[in-house]
Amino acid sequence: MTYFLKALLLVCCIAVSSVNYAQDKDKQPKNIILLIGDGMGLSEISAAQFFGETTSNFEQFNTIGLIKTSSSQQLVTDSAAGATAFACGIKTYNGAIGVDDDKKPLRNIVDYASNKGMATGLISTSSIVHATPASFFAHIDSRRKYPEIAAFLPNSELDFVAGGGLEFFDRREDGKDLVKSLKEKGFEVTTDKLTKTTSIKKQAFLLADDEMPKMTEGRGDFLPDATALAIQHLAKNKNGFFLMVEGSQIDWGGHANDADYLVSELLDFDKTIGVALEYARRDKNTLVIVTADHETGGFTLAAEGSNYHKIEMKFSTGGHSATMIPVFAKGPGAEKFAGIYENTEIYTKMISSLNKKKK
Ligand code: MG
Ligand code: ZN
Repeated sequence: MTYFLKALLLVCCIAVSSVNYAQDKDKQPKNIILLIGDGMGLSEISAAQFFGETTSNFEQFNTIGLIKTSSSQQLVTDSAAGATAFACGIKTYNGAIGVDDDKKPLRNIVDYASNKGMATGLISTSSIVHATPASFFAHIDSRRKYPEIAAFLPNSELDFVAGGGLEFFDRREDGKDLVKSLKEKGFEVTTDKLTKTTSIKKQAFLLADDEMPKMTEGRGDFLPDATALAIQHLAKNKNGFFLMVEGSQIDWGGHANDADYLVSELLDFDKTIGVALEYARRDKNTLVIVTADHETGGFTLAAEGSNYHKIEMKFSTGGHSATMIPVFAKGPGAEKFAGIYENTEIYTKMISSLNKKKK
């Protein structure tokens, strides 16, 4: 081939790919799936590359950004302030669930999406009243008030929830039966295991008294399977859906400075990302965002002394760290997640994606 032809071919390729890019950029997603790996920093993500058996699903993303995670009052955030930033778009103090610095309730993306006629869902491997999922449906001054947080769920706009936390619904000091309340509000409540198919009713899977079991203690494919089931349930809504999926226990592996715990939870989360991306690939109308609220454990993949052939997983704290956190996005509207920005912009960017006018 002559140089001229090669050059011409190259110009054509660039023109074609930029047209595709422009179309994707102007497209509004019908659905958003937000996956949060609690406590998942870059070293945790990198562990998938070294300890996973298959190519990490993180490698499927082309658009990558970084978020700054400090809360309104602390340099190092906790999961409550971190999740409230994602759910409500406001920086608040550590411990706050869906409220601002003055403890005033904030509108969250679940309410926002429901108002637009979208279906909404939450999944976690913690109890469903734990800080991260709670920030998407409750408004309370302290993350520790689990029974009070549970009381928000029956009155929420959610269509699908899956996780642990049954004891906060059916064994309460105030004697209220919140399982009954959920049923009265149109939920089918399941407490033994995930079903194979979805119900026409709203669905609540409360599959453990408090948190779900660890991966190392036999949780199996709960997280990827619940994600597939939620998508099947929510995708029936012609106006689209918003789904938040949390790998809650990556954080707990970090707190415990337990590398096996951390990595097994991380690999489960990675597999779950694959479920979301596979749906998005078929659907072509779904924006998938993967990020974390903060890093936990000051985790590193250090060379084992002078032996550069071996990685030693090390921790520098039993708490959280302030390192910037990666954001991965794919699908219509993904390009706005590139760059370095505050954690609250995850909310702002999701909302603006939903509002973008079709051309
Ligand atoms: Mg969490
Ligand atoms: Zn934590």
